[in-house]
Amino acid sequence: MRELTGNPVAPGVALGAALLLEQPRERLARRTVPPERRQEQVDRLEAALAAALEGLQADRDRVEQDLGPEAAQIFDVHLVLLKDSALIEPTKAQIREDGLTAASAVSETFANLAQRFRAMGSQVFRDKARDVLDLEKRILGQLLGRTQDRLANVPDEGEGVVVIAYELTPADAAALQHDRVLAVVTELGGRTDHTSIVAAALGVPVVVGCADVVAQSQDGDTIVVDGTRGKVVVRPTDEKAERYRARRQRLERFRATAATRDGEDSVTLDGTRISLQGNIEFIREIPGLLEHGADGVGLYRTEFLYLTSDTEPDEDTLTERYSEALQALDGRQLTLRTLDLGADKYTQAMALVPERNPFLGLRSIRWCLQNQPVFRRQLRAVLRASIHGNLRVMFPLVTTVGEFRQARLLLNDVAQDLRDEGHEVSRDIPVGMMVEVPSAAIQAASFAKVADFFSIGTNDLIQYTVAVDRGNERVANLYTAANPAILRLVRSVTKAAGRRQKPVSICGEIASDVTYTMLLIGLGLRSLSLVPALIPRVREVVRRVRVEDCENLARRVTGLESERGILRALREELERVLPEIGADDDAT
Ligand code: PEP
Ligand code: MG
Repeated sequence: MRELTGNPVAPGVALGAALLLEQPRERLARRTVPPERRQEQVDRLEAALAAALEGLQADRDRVEQDLGPEAAQIFDVHLVLLKDSALIEPTKAQIREDGLTAASAVSETFANLAQRFRAMGSQVFRDKARDVLDLEKRILGQLLGRTQDRLANVPDEGEGVVVIAYELTPADAAALQHDRVLAVVTELGGRTDHTSIVAAALGVPVVVGCADVVAQSQDGDTIVVDGTRGKVVVRPTDEKAERYRARRQRLERFRATAATRDGEDSVTLDGTRISLQGNIEFIREIPGLLEHGADGVGLYRTEFLYLTSDTEPDEDTLTERYSEALQALDGRQLTLRTLDLGADKYTQAMALVPERNPFLGLRSIRWCLQNQPVFRRQLRAVLRASIHGNLRVMFPLVTTVGEFRQARLLLNDVAQDLRDEGHEVSRDIPVGMMVEVPSAAIQAASFAKVADFFSIGTNDLIQYTVAVDRGNERVANLYTAANPAILRLVRSVTKAAGRRQKPVSICGEIASDVTYTMLLIGLGLRSLSLVPALIPRVREVVRRVRVEDCENLARRVTGLESERGILRALREELERVLPEIGADDDAT
């Protein structure tokens, strides 16, 4: 038995047989052909390119149909690369001049280019390297008669399969839409990268960034995937497998019960309403969120519209999208976060100068304030759409009061320009900020004078407070919201907001984790924004607790000094309140 950890992307528990997908790193033996057969190899290459192009276009169309036009734009980069003579001509030259077979030529040229991109160091070039390797796989699949994936051979009987891959591209992830796929695990990848977005939409547990899973697994091995906690168990003992099966069953029963309450209110036993809103990246998520009875959108990560496109979306397109979102919400609140680019989120088309420390670099609102034409275009679209519903605007990664003021002034300035041009713009749009930098949390009282509302982003707040990269497995044990310093920061932010009657919400991943629901209520939060699919289970906790008990719990755990102690106390309490799920680690 091997127990591994990674980044949880989509929740739930699954058990199934491992199905290892072909590894993109695999290199072919170098084969050559005599001069008279070289043209034949060039012809084969051209036929393979045409077939790959067709396959790519078909995948694009399917994703567009299933996930909408924004997600489908991911494929446009691949389509452009596939037609790029800078990639294809050197491959042909390898055949004509060095006599390589078509497959060897593709393997060498594409691997060299990917290697060159990787060596450039920054995330944007690593993404390009992945695109190149994805294409390589496609073309080799055509040339060597391999299938893109091995799903066609998955037997109809048995528990189904857990797909394991070193690295998936968005195209691979989209191809996993198959009723025998029970879960997906990859070695590379972060929670918010493109592949994870597509994989999460499959509706099965997904864990990415799970180091060593390929080396540790073999086809047919029993694999447990806990997509809630980011845990993977390879060849579990019978006892462990049984405990996970029991937990899976409990979760399924609980999910079915909680879903029946989608139309009911999120109110505690003593009558306090806890507003539950959804975090979304794409507009297509809104109907699902409404089905779960969400009060609105507490975090709309607008950068994904830019990330899935090769070029910056124009103002009219953005206005249309934002209006669509507001209309779909039919009067419910939409908290739109302005562009949060930078760090791990770069657009493909922007040739950004690599930074030595991108998470501490030019990202989010800092980037927007230094790239005002792009920022202004977004703000114009946001304001033009504002008349279509109940909008709030929120700036990410605000570090100083001056920065917030500057961003707000810019927004006012853009509103004035629009009115001068004859556009209608809503009045009194609340303008708030993410609290996700320790300086902002510590200085929350000052920010509460200038911001209309706060949304606490614990994903980044944890990373910056405990100095741990949220995507780095080697220090993942230090990355936890149960750190006493984090709890103190959250409490001081809710207090500062309360003193000025400013609404405060939380939109980091802990809002989706039932382990923390009571604690967050106890720390003063009355509004949570979370992964839409997890709203029913969080609401179930809300409906079973009293605020006073939550406050007592919060008082008790904030007095503790260790993460372990805090987590233990929270899990014990959860087990009492929600015995159907039990503490999340009871199977481990
Ligand atoms: C956060 O940092 O907590 C957050 C919600 O923003 P993101 O995950 O997009 O960085
Ligand atoms: Mg953040």
